[in-house]
Amino acid sequence: MKEGSVVLTEELHQGLVQHLIRLDGQEDLCFVTYAPSSGINRFTAIITSIIVPEAGDREVHGNVTFFSKYVERALKIAKIRGEGLAFLHSHPAKGWQGMSRDDIIAEKCLSPTVYGATQLPLLGMTLGIDEVWSARFWRKHPIKRRFYYRLWCENVKVVGKKLSVSFLPQQKSHINPKRQIRTISAWGEQTQKELSQLKIGIVGLGSVGSMVAEVLSRMGLTKFVLIDFDRVEEKNLDRLVGVYPKDIGKPKVDVIAKSLKRSASSEKIHIDKYQFSICEEMGFRASLDCDVLFSCVDRPWPRQVLNFIAYAHLIPVIDGGIKVRTNTKNTVIKGADWKTQTVGVGRTCLECSGQYETHWANLERQGLLDDSNYIEGLLDKSVVDSHENVFVFSSHLASMEVMQLLSLVIAPSGIKLGQQIYHFMTGTSENVSMNGCEPDCFFNQILGKGDLISVKPFGEHEVAEVARKNH
Ligand SMILES: [Zn+2]
Ligand SMILES: [Zn+2]
Repeated sequence: MKEGSVVLTEELHQGLVQHLIRLDGQEDLCFVTYAPSSGINRFTAIITSIIVPEAGDREVHGNVTFFSKYVERALKIAKIRGEGLAFLHSHPAKGWQGMSRDDIIAEKCLSPTVYGATQLPLLGMTLGIDEVWSARFWRKHPIKRRFYYRLWCENVKVVGKKLSVSFLPQQKSHINPKRQIRTISAWGEQTQKELSQLKIGIVGLGSVGSMVAEVLSRMGLTKFVLIDFDRVEEKNLDRLVGVYPKDIGKPKVDVIAKSLKRSASSEKIHIDKYQFSICEEMGFRASLDCDVLFSCVDRPWPRQVLNFIAYAHLIPVIDGGIKVRTNTKNTVIKGADWKTQTVGVGRTCLECSGQYETHWANLERQGLLDDSNYIEGLLDKSVVDSHENVFVFSSHLASMEVMQLLSLVIAPSGIKLGQQIYHFMTGTSENVSMNGCEPDCFFNQILGKGDLISVKPFGEHEVAEVARKNH
């Protein structure tokens, strides 16, 4: 059984708060449409639009009731859009909201009609006056006819300047106050609980990826998805955390997972491992199980795929990279800079900010960047030359990337961090505010469309296939 999750933009959330939390203290309701986002272990509803009730659609009388003409109109809209339908209402109370007997009857009655019309499960959501959401899917029973059962969603996420998450309260927290006493004293137990329940995907387990993983595990995070097709080589030993000579030849996902379990400061951690590239369907789908993704890759195609996920599936992506310049003989360092940025809703995408070029991503997808004859002919080989990460540079960048996560979740000063750059030669850092995407940016056109986008960013990845086979 896949777990459930919901995501919506800050803008839609504000619109819903305005409609559902009434000044007169009464409950209200509305329908919204959603696009599906199907991960391997998680099914997420991405809220796409509000179907505002018109006169005669509902009656507010302390509680609130809706009429069949509103249901029919909502179903028609969902069907035309090819999307799912969700039924939302508010409670005049604080915190995560359960359901009254009447709530259950109303949603249970709607489930068959909605599934029949949209082929997607009805989503029910309740909003408390402190803007905390609860959500559940009504799933069709595989055997019992016309029987629909409730599956509570693990979380509801609002993404914008900040990532605000309402968690299912029944989830057990695995934080260990004794071991995490210093961590908790930095930001409090509530924030620690929230951080520890985020599902974090780390894409690419090179030097930066392995260090991000180590930092998060020590910090007490408990849910990880590791995605990397590669195996440990001797040349990795000077810059990967948790990797030793006996690990040479083993898949990086296995070695790093073991290391994370050893470093975990929480009582229990859960790790899903995928020996795939993010550019393959399995790696892509695995990433859709996550709340936040770390892009620790250095090639253009995986960056393009991660950029796609950040916008189409509304999962914030924290990206980073290091550039080292030396003289032609590699004996003198001429410069070294590293930078990190978070991309997604309301932020400049990786393509518009020049972090990769579509042209190179397309060539990589065709296999040309792994074809020695083709590379030989290239004037500028920097796009394939990625052996520049050094432990000391990577550890600094990994720390900066985790700081981006903290800022996204805690937003300590309410400031949206821009791109952060560190210049090794001058010892200075820079915060670059981003100007937003180009007006015709493709990624903003596919915002929140999830599985409904016909273009697929993944494909065959020969190098990953070979890496899986070789022992
Ligand atoms: Zn209710
Ligand atoms: Zn863009």
